[in-house]
Amino acid sequence: MELNTKLFQISGIGPQFAKKLERLGLFNVEDLLNHFPFRYEDFSQSSQISQAKIGDTLTLQGEIWDIKNTYTKFRKVLTRATLNDGTGTIEIVWFNQPWLIKNILPGDKIQVSGKIARYGYKTSLVSPQWEKSAISSIPLTGNNIHTGRLVPIYPETYGLTSKYFRQKLVRIMPLVKHEVSDPLPDFLRDTMLPLQDAYEKIHFPSLWEDIRQARERLSFDEFFYIQLNNLKTKASWQQKKLIQPLNIDEKLLDKFIKNLPFSLTGAQLKVISQVCSDLKKQYPMNRLVQGEVGSGKTVVAAAIIYLVYLNKQRSILMAPTEILAFQHFSTLAALLEPFGIIVGIYTGSKKTAHQKPYDVIVGTHALLSKKLELDNTGLVVVDEQQRFGVEQRSFLRSKAKTPHFLTMTATPIPRTVALTLYGDLDISVIDELPKGRKLVKTHYVPPKKRDDAYKFIARHIKEGRQTYIITPLIEESETNLSAKAAKVEFERLKNGPFINFRLGLLHGKLKSKEKESVINSFKDRNIDILVSTSVVEVGVDVPNATIMVIEGAERFGLAQLHQLRGRVGRGLDQSYTFLFTEESSPQAINRVKNLEKIYDGLKLSELDLKIRGSGDLFGIRQSGRWNLKIADLSDIKMIEKTKEAALKIITDSPTLDKYPALAAKLSGQQTEIMPD
Ligand code: ADP
Ligand code: MG
Repeated sequence: MELNTKLFQISGIGPQFAKKLERLGLFNVEDLLNHFPFRYEDFSQSSQISQAKIGDTLTLQGEIWDIKNTYTKFRKVLTRATLNDGTGTIEIVWFNQPWLIKNILPGDKIQVSGKIARYGYKTSLVSPQWEKSAISSIPLTGNNIHTGRLVPIYPETYGLTSKYFRQKLVRIMPLVKHEVSDPLPDFLRDTMLPLQDAYEKIHFPSLWEDIRQARERLSFDEFFYIQLNNLKTKASWQQKKLIQPLNIDEKLLDKFIKNLPFSLTGAQLKVISQVCSDLKKQYPMNRLVQGEVGSGKTVVAAAIIYLVYLNKQRSILMAPTEILAFQHFSTLAALLEPFGIIVGIYTGSKKTAHQKPYDVIVGTHALLSKKLELDNTGLVVVDEQQRFGVEQRSFLRSKAKTPHFLTMTATPIPRTVALTLYGDLDISVIDELPKGRKLVKTHYVPPKKRDDAYKFIARHIKEGRQTYIITPLIEESETNLSAKAAKVEFERLKNGPFINFRLGLLHGKLKSKEKESVINSFKDRNIDILVSTSVVEVGVDVPNATIMVIEGAERFGLAQLHQLRGRVGRGLDQSYTFLFTEESSPQAINRVKNLEKIYDGLKLSELDLKIRGSGDLFGIRQSGRWNLKIADLSDIKMIEKTKEAALKIITDSPTLDKYPALAAKLSGQQTEIMPD
């Protein structure tokens, strides 16, 4: 058996289970080793039955005296067994596992781990893990894998339990452990666990300390290779020579800025000057500008496009949707045409770009078409970069023959995340909104105030305003379940509290024509209340909508709630967001209440990271840069340590020639491909 042995080839797994494993992204043995537990049950305390007390989590050993299935009033199967260890007997209860009476027979000696609780009138062991005989192939574990120790719990899927993973890993680990090679140079391994041991201990720890050490080693590797990859990419990017370096005319730039219909914020000016210093260099810029919706990224792009135009080079701006492309087209035309700059558009439905020598071409994915020539391009700007694939961005870059590259995003990326996942880019933040923006008043609404909130909404609708009602996120992506939740709420409101108003329904399962028609009637004020899943985030702009209700708010990340409330407050009037929760725990409510005080998306995103860990980071998962299995993006120390280590290596050998094992390891990772 080798690390790249396919799982379906392994006896005891077979094609059927291999299919299920594929659903978790597990194809070969190495993938399985890298399927890490996300928590552990501590069953290491054992006890005599006579000593077991209610509330204890522990392990008992004994002989089965009796086992049988019984049925509850509601036809649920209960399996009841009596266990005796010489000091006493205890009842064991399992739910919905009727087959157990075939696997466990009176007279069997078994070991069970679980929680002691009162069940019915008796002190019982409820739904314990159990196992009979010893498996001794793993030296670290002693004889048992599901009981009597620290027992790993894995990400599961239908038909694949943690027990299944433990059974497979206990067999496979000893066969492949020695195949795991460690590319890290000695000086970096220093006090950390050897990699082979880390793999063994993450799956079969004896002590919590084993888990800590294994996590530390595996997290180090995970972050380190990302950092190394990023720094190597950055180093090779800096080796590229510009075909025609730019000349920055500060005076004309100042004049351009003075001529704008508004004065730029300090943050906008700061970002423009960061870009200018990039543009003066001999190698291409590769910068990410991060700024909330409404922070004014477009005008920053316009100023830079102007500088590129002064050098007689062309700029390309790619946006993720036609609507956005047309918006950018008209904004840029208005800002730039007074200076004699000719702006063209290139989308699926409208293409002017091949008719004239345009100075600026704004478009969608259509820009990637082979038919379109993009020579003499000095600057490529990609808006909402996370909505394009790595390949698309790379392709556009190479098509334009290594221009300056600027990406813009409204996704708030916490500093630690930027340091790791985006370490190949230089990053600018527009952390200030233009003056005079009204903040959306935000309130958590307790259940007993729900009717008041509905009355408030009704009053506003009678005054001609409109409202969004967002139903809770059922799963991360748009699913049938989410669509159903929206429908149910839509029916409830339509036939109840808002029976006198016109309601519309929007969710991701609608055909795009249907979606468009719902959004258009909301825009045309033919709908008073739009009940929607979180699809409404993108591309809906209705300034007359002044109230947003979010149901099940505790299910969303704070940054996503912030993004949602950005749909209101787009007109001149005061707007409101009402947050309802399904859960009533103080933690859930207090977390959501952060929205009442904090109006900075980046701060909220950093709070998400602190409170709920990296799983919740809004918008970053879709970036294509996300495949963390064990490392924690809130672990600043580890991030800094790995960055330092990666820097040391790259400074010593920018192309990794001195570290062939590291170079080989990186060649297996996805990178933002650099055009040659
Ligand atoms: P985003 O960062 O979301 O792309 P936009 O560039 O679309 O934001 O800008 C949002 C709105 O704010 C536009 O109408 C734009 O003209 C306006 N705007 C941008 N900068 C300023 C500023 N410094 N002062 C006032 N309004 C501004
Ligand atoms: Mg924008």
